[in-house]
Amino acid sequence: MLGLMQDWALTVDKIIDHANLNYSNREIVSRSVEGPILRSNYGQVHSRSKKLSNWLKSQNLRFGSRVASLAWNSGRHMECWYGAMGIGLVLHTLNPRLFADQLIYIIKHAEDEIIFSDISFAPLLEQIIPLCPSVKSVVYLTDKANMPQTKLANVHCYEEILEHENDECQWGGFDENTACGLCYTSGTTGNPKGVLYSHRSNILHSYMSLTADVMGISSSDVVLPVVPMFHANTWGVIFSAPMVGAKIVMPGAKMDGASIYELLETEKVNFTAAVPTVWLMLLQYLESTNQRLNSLKRVLIGGAALPERILRTFEDKYGVEVRHAWGMTETSPLGTVCTLTPEAMEMSKDEQIAIKLKQGRAPFGVELKIKRDDEAAPRDGTTFGNLMIRGPAIAKSYFKSEGGEILDEEGYFDTGDVANIDPQGYMQITDRSKDVIKSGGEWISSIDIENIAIGVDGVAIAAVIGHYHPKWDERPLLVIQTKENFEVSKEEILGYLNGKIAKWWMPDDVQFIDAIPLGATGKINKVALREMFKDYEFPK
Ligand code: ADP
Repeated sequence: MLGLMQDWALTVDKIIDHANLNYSNREIVSRSVEGPILRSNYGQVHSRSKKLSNWLKSQNLRFGSRVASLAWNSGRHMECWYGAMGIGLVLHTLNPRLFADQLIYIIKHAEDEIIFSDISFAPLLEQIIPLCPSVKSVVYLTDKANMPQTKLANVHCYEEILEHENDECQWGGFDENTACGLCYTSGTTGNPKGVLYSHRSNILHSYMSLTADVMGISSSDVVLPVVPMFHANTWGVIFSAPMVGAKIVMPGAKMDGASIYELLETEKVNFTAAVPTVWLMLLQYLESTNQRLNSLKRVLIGGAALPERILRTFEDKYGVEVRHAWGMTETSPLGTVCTLTPEAMEMSKDEQIAIKLKQGRAPFGVELKIKRDDEAAPRDGTTFGNLMIRGPAIAKSYFKSEGGEILDEEGYFDTGDVANIDPQGYMQITDRSKDVIKSGGEWISSIDIENIAIGVDGVAIAAVIGHYHPKWDERPLLVIQTKENFEVSKEEILGYLNGKIAKWWMPDDVQFIDAIPLGATGKINKVALREMFKDYEFPK
């Protein structure tokens, strides 16, 4: 027997309809790439998204066609998402930090037909669009006065398009499993692979991310997503914030400490989210200018392991609660978030810090499993193995079936991370499976060593790679980038690590380089780093 409740398809257009009806004046503030701060609100975003839908309907696209965006976080970019998704198109976010040939590969693979772009990417588009036959037109997210010069055919001005359209447009009315967003994983090995989100998965992920132990944001909050919209859906913020009517502050292209601080203060932001490198820049700025954080209450940090120094500085010096989160493009992206259980709240400060540095617990809608030698490992907080995940907002296959079958017999996706889970459900990443160091058959976690090494004064970035060793197969090599104008010695670093990690985990050498290579999402690119050191030999 089936239940007798209404069919109400879980499609994302309903989110912005809801925001328009209930929070129409709540602001969307954007730092534009042209310079000025632009102010809009949910009512305007709703109306302008509908106008864009009408224009898109006149462009000879089919249901499910892909339109791409190459843009920083902004109100206009948000309108492209809702304008396309509302009429059953798939919005494909392009990461502008990728190399030109990677972008060409992705655009061709996705068969993008229109590209919405910030004007700052005009030189890049001039170079790559002639090599992307599927692209019929480019729309610059700007007004007439700021339109770039171009040699390309079919280039449009966003504000001009909207001027000529009306905002009467029927959205939705299709199956909630319809595709609505496409995002490629950075593919440090092999070609990038597309993750194809559905309306339903985005809505369920938003509900989940709004729960109190995840983001817990509400209509009175002011949210600054520093995490880009092209990085796994802004971690869902572009869907979850309008669901509850939170004000959104968009940083545009400027993610340095001073620019982020300015927005945090002038817009009275109380919740924000980004990768650790962004927070290192902000904290360095605060220290060097001796300023306070006057409205910020909570920060979600994920995408890479949370260093203890960032956690302690935010919480002890600035009174800001830190929530460590783990996820990936394939998981929409939130997989776990770390908040304290009532038992943990009774613990000592140091014990709490140890918990908060873990990646956290699974919210409802996420199931985790640790797999070792094809068996589920016990949740004892020490046995580590491959981290597997399943749920309604987790990928079941890549776009165009790249990579073939990706689920195990129980429907779990292998994350490529190595982790343990403790009896309270806290998951801790110990490595990516391809970065784990196998020394004499035993595993050494590169992340643990990096997190401690970053605590040495003067160290900007620490990276550990497994390097060939004639006796042990692999041994850890620690590579350090120091802060500008700082000198740090190998002895200082090894002395600092001594006693904080097991003796046999001690790196066999420390090497200093000017710049540790970072990937397109700001994380350490270990493939490039290993390549840099391929001819290196450990001291005899
Ligand atoms: P990629 O970097 O491969 O493109 P994502 O941006 O989706 O993919 O990043 C996902 C990966 O980032 C995870 O599989 C994990 O290795 C790493 N990651 C994300 N959050 C954390 C975290 N809090 N701690 C450690 N690693 C993390």
